[in-house]
Parts: sequence; structure tokens; C-alpha cells
Amino acid sequence: MPESPTRTVDEHLAEILELVSPPPAATLPLAACLGLTLRADLTARLPAPPFTNSSMDGFAVRAADVAGASAGRPVELPVADDQPAGPRGASVLAPGTAIRIMTGAPLPEGADAVVPVELTDQPRGSVPLPPAVRVLEPVVVGASVRHRGEGVAVGAPVMPAGTRLGAAALAAAAAVGYGELPVARRPRLAVVSTGDELAAPGEALGGGTIPDSNLTMLVALATEWGADVPVAERVGDDPGTLRAVLARAAEAADLVVTCGGISAGAYEVVRQALESPRVRFVQVAMQPGKPQGLGTLAASHGDVPVLALPGNPVSSFVGFRVLVRPALAVLAGRDPHAETATVPVRAAEAWRSPAGRRQYAPVRLEPPERPGEPFLARPTHRLGSASHLVGSLHLAHALAVVPAEVTQVEAGQAMAAIPLPPWSPELPVQVAPHPR
Ligand code: AMP
Ligand code: MG
Repeated sequence: MPESPTRTVDEHLAEILELVSPPPAATLPLAACLGLTLRADLTARLPAPPFTNSSMDGFAVRAADVAGASAGRPVELPVADDQPAGPRGASVLAPGTAIRIMTGAPLPEGADAVVPVELTDQPRGSVPLPPAVRVLEPVVVGASVRHRGEGVAVGAPVMPAGTRLGAAALAAAAAVGYGELPVARRPRLAVVSTGDELAAPGEALGGGTIPDSNLTMLVALATEWGADVPVAERVGDDPGTLRAVLARAAEAADLVVTCGGISAGAYEVVRQALESPRVRFVQVAMQPGKPQGLGTLAASHGDVPVLALPGNPVSSFVGFRVLVRPALAVLAGRDPHAETATVPVRAAEAWRSPAGRRQYAPVRLEPPERPGEPFLARPTHRLGSASHLVGSLHLAHALAVVPAEVTQVEAGQAMAAIPLPPWSPELPVQVAPHPR
């Protein structure tokens, strides 16, 4: 079989991105929106806060009535009413009186300030309504008052389309009147690992078999990213069986990823099952991860893109990060290029990189000697980016990106690195992502 000419990572990624398209917006309840991308600009339907209310437990007053108060000469006001938080609505304050008020309760009409309970002669806590309160300090107009709409006015922009909905964004949407949001549905990624040598994790190994670490890894990478994984299967080296599994996978998914069975051996099951005008197998100028496949599978809901990753675990890991995640991003209505945003680093030591291929080297990041300088990248394993080193991959904070033309990385050399989650907890300082 003749080897196809090598393409750059960027050329390959561009072709992958042509295979995927963003989904139509769906409307989902807030509780189902975590991690999804907002598909429309949100403006406030309600002001936040929705009514003027107290920010303290205390007594609603007119500031003018307590202007002369001091600890030595307290101002005594009769307590005319009680204003708890809740649906009761605001009471009315007569001049020269006070109304006991709780945090979040509507400010009584006629009141313009709240005296916190700590600035009165009254005890804190659950006590009966006193007949009168002695105010020990003056308060200014507006003290301890949160005005309607002071956080967000009705109709004000709250967040733009494209926002990834985290916990705080969901809270903001709820606060300004939304119970459901237009979002891009969570992408569904099917994962199929291949190879007669694979055993289930934890299963006793026969001669020549190895644990299938990729299936677990790819499912976890997809889940960690925020995709659903409706199909996760391990298949041996029989093309007919694989075709049947892939047909089912395509029915259930927006994107299918396989691993293994695509290089130059005699038993390359993914190649045997899929090579056709629809699915091509190519050489990409990257290390690890040179053999790659891409194309589409037919399904009743239309053509489903398929990406075939090589079987070596580090190759699969890098392929997911550099090629699959951008495709998922498009499916999720997000910027695919943000998936491979980099931070600047410097090499902590020298290492080799293959000629003519962009290297993605798993590295640990060490704090720089002087604050403010780039972090120092050190290969996680003395064998560098060798593609079988799955047992130390979890130590990596980042993938150092070594340009294709570099064959020797020197200690101190500046380069870019793709941060891996979760990488920051172990680092004393977090590196800000590079603006793109
Ligand atoms: P392949 O791409 O199928 O030629 O496999 C390349 C190398 O990766 C071989 O050493 C395989 O045993 C190994 N490998 C393939 N698939 C997996 C997998 N799912 N988990 C762990 N190692 C794998
Ligand atoms: Mg194989």
C-alpha cells in the first residue's frame, strides 16, 4: 500500500472541521444547561434585584429621624410593624417610627435606610417584636438598602451568545428571569477501541494481550470535556464485526472516534472496515499520532463524521486533544481553535524532536525561578513523547508544542504548551491563557 503524502496538523484539522457543523439551538431547562453553549444573546427579563430590599437584619427608618443618634444620646423610635422576607409585599413606614426588617425583605414605603440590629439596643436573633428600638448611630440615606435593578436593569445585556454556561452564568440567567435557555445540545461521541490484543481493564492477561487503556481514557476525555458517550465498545480485529458496531455507533452519535487499526501492519481492522471514498487514511506531520483517518459514516439521521486515531495510548490522547476536541467544539457551537490555545513556557531541559513533524510532548510545568517568567516544561518521562508511555501520562500538566522544523529542544528554549485539565491545583500560580 503506497504511503499517502504527509499533511500538516493544520491542514488535517481544517479538513476535519469541514466534516462537522454546529447543531440547531435546543431549549433546555437551566438544570440541563451546565457546560453547554448559549445560542442567543440574553437580556434581563427582570431587574436584579427585582425590588428594593434590605441588605441587613435591622430596622427600616427615615435617615432624617436618626440623624442625631449616638451611644450617649440614642434616638428612640416606636416599632410599628415587622417586615420579614417573603411574598407579603412592602409595608408603609410612618415618619418618626421604625419597622423591624430582615435581609431580603422589601423596604417599606417611606423608609430610606436600614439601621443594622448591631447599631441598636436590641439583641440579634429570634426575639419577639419590641415595642420600641433605641438607635445608637446615625445612618445615611440608602444605608443597607439594595435598589431594584442596581445589579442588572431590565433589558440590559447579561451575556452574549457563545457563552459557555458555568454555575455562575446559570445563576445569572435564573436571577434575570429565565427558567430555560436556548443552547447547543451536548454533543454525543461514540468511542470504539480495536485490537485482538485488548483485554478489559483488570482482566487477567493471556500471552500477547494488553489492557485496553484507550477505551477508558477516550470515554473519560469526552466526559471530562462535556460530551455524552452513548456507545463505548471494544472490538477485535474482524472487519465485519467492526462495521456492524460502527453502524450502531453512528446511529447513536454526532461523532464517532475509533482507536487502533490504522497504521501499516497486516491486520489494520479500521482501515479494512472503512477505507473507501468516504473514509481516508492519511499521514499527519505530528508526533505522536502520525497515522490518522477521517471521513463519514452513513446513519439514518444523516452522515456522521468519523475520526480514526492510532492505537498507541499517547497518540490517542494527543489525537483527542488536538483533533477530536476541536470537532466537539464545533458540534457544541464553540470556537474550535480555543481548544488548542497555548500558554508560553520554556524548556527545563534539552530533548529531541523528530524532523518534519510537530511534536506534542507531555510535560510537567515547574514554577519559574523569577515570578512573572514563563513556567518551565520538563518531559514527564525520560523517553519523552514516545507513544506507548501511558503509565506516566497522568503526570503531565501540558503538551509542549515543538515546531516541525525543530529537531533539538535546548534547555531554556521558549515554546508554547497546551494546558491539560486538571493541571492547575498542583501549581502554585496559574498561568493565564494566551489571548488568541
Ligand atoms: P495499532 O494502532 O492498532 O497498530 O496499535 C498500536 C499500539 O497501540 C500497539 O502496541 C497496540 O497494542 C496498542 N494499542 C492499541 N489499542 C490500544 C488500546 N485500546 N489500549 C491500549 N493500547 C492499545
Ligand atoms: Mg491494532
